Parts: sequence; structure tokens; C-alpha cells
Amino acid sequence: MYQGRTAAEAGLIFGHENMGIVEEVGSGVTLLQKGDRVVMPFNVADGRCRNCEEGRTAFCTGVNPGFAGGAYGYVAMGPYKGGQAQYLRVPFADFNALKLPPGTEHEADFALLADIFPTGWHGLTLAGFSPGDSVAVFGAGPVGLMAAYSGILRGASKVFVVDRVPERLDAAKKIGCIPIDFTKADPVEQIIKANDGMVDRAVDAVGYQAVDSSGSKEKPNIVLEQLIRVTRPTGGLGIPGLYVPSDPGAPDKQSAEGHILIPFGKLFEKVRANINKRCVVFH
Ligand SMILES: [Zn+2]
Repeated sequence: MYQGRTAAEAGLIFGHENMGIVEEVGSGVTLLQKGDRVVMPFNVADGRCRNCEEGRTAFCTGVNPGFAGGAYGYVAMGPYKGGQAQYLRVPFADFNALKLPPGTEHEADFALLADIFPTGWHGLTLAGFSPGDSVAVFGAGPVGLMAAYSGILRGASKVFVVDRVPERLDAAKKIGCIPIDFTKADPVEQIIKANDGMVDRAVDAVGYQAVDSSGSKEKPNIVLEQLIRVTRPTGGLGIPGLYVPSDPGAPDKQSAEGHILIPFGKLFEKVRANINKRCVVFH
């Protein structure tokens, strides 16, 4: 559809974060016009590479040369700016923008489609979730809470949410989850005790900037290690948390080079892992 056109020609401009009203369209845009209300993921995809064709748009190979995946204002994810800006230029807009019904209804609900809710939902899907499963979600930021809430909506028997910030743990409790404060005691032991055994599914919504039980010292491997320990044999892990190929600010040399030390033997012994760092696919 976009053959022979540059990303700029195929783009459009609109107001408000990753949801808004189309202000201007490029010459390559055929499915949208000025005034349309649209929402799109924070990922950028061209819609025509092999990964896009297979629905894996978060790993598009056409928008960020030498890397699988592009995104607005994201480390290593290409030159795309402005996911939170007042105006945003959307490359390959016919593919990336999802046209919404006109008007202003359900604005807050539609805005969730841009990133947070699909990422949390998909993180749980990556873990191989089925109704009735018990779930442990590490990290109660927006994505972790949405992963946890997805578990509640989809019929989890129990959802544990691990964090250290009281307000976040309160939010988890409010949506029906069991809060676990990792600064009080080993979160894996707390969960195994409360669940009377390991959980069926675990989700990492933290990523490489995880901290140890002091709550302040960065320890990039700690959540992965806890995921592996807390999940039962033949259970599943979903990892929407971000890990990067290199991290100059890492606390140790290995992590700086993107080598995260995990108990792979333990992982090999018991769990099926679906590792995915970027998870938005809603087309
Ligand atoms: Zn692509």
C-alpha cells in the first residue's frame, strides 16, 4: 500500500498523546481524513514486513533499521518523537491509526488502547493464562496493574501483585488482588505461603530497572529470578517488562553489556517461557 512512499508522506499529524483528532494528512494516507478521531499504539510499524504480516507489529523490521521494532520516544526504538506531546506525527498512519467512532464518548477507555491495557493484557496472555489460574504480577505500575486487572477480568483464581509503594499496593487491593510488599520479606516466599504453593502464571511488569529488597539498589535480574522461583513446573512466564541490549547505567559490567544472569537451569527444569519485551498488537 505504501510502496514508493516515504514514511513522512504516509503520515499524519494529530493532537493529544496517542489518541486524538487528525489535524493534517500526508499524501500517502488514504483511509483517514482531517477530523477523524484515532488512537494508536506507542509502537510504530510499517504494516508490510514479515513480522507485521504475521501480526507481530511490535517487532516490525521496517521502521528502525538494524533493530526489530520502533516506538515513539523510546530507548533504542528509532527516531520517532512525541508519544506524550500535544501533536504527533504518525508514520504509516493508515496502518498504525485505529479509527474510532466520532464524538467524545469513552475517551478514557479508548486512550487505554494506546499502550497500557493491551500491554498488561498481552503480558498475561504470553504467560499462557487460562481462567482459574493463579497469577503473580511483579510491578504495580500502570502496566502491572492492568496485567493484574486482566487476570481478574479473565477469571484468575488469585492474583498476587508485588511492589513496594503503598499507594500502588492499595490500588491492587482495590481491584481484587492480593498485595505483596517485597521490602517486608522475600516476595516469592510470601506468595507461596499465601497461595499454598507456586502460582500457575507470573508476569514481569518491571524490567531491567528492578531494585532489590532495600527498594533502592538496582538489580536487573531480580524479578526474572523471582518469576522463575514462584512459577510451578509447566507454568508460564509473561515478560512485558523491558530489557535492553546494553545499559551504560547498569550496576555491574555484565548487565551493562545486556547479559542478565538468571537461574537458567531452574527455568529449564520447570517453566515454559514466552519472552516478549514489547506487547502491543491490536490490529
Ligand atoms: Zn513491519
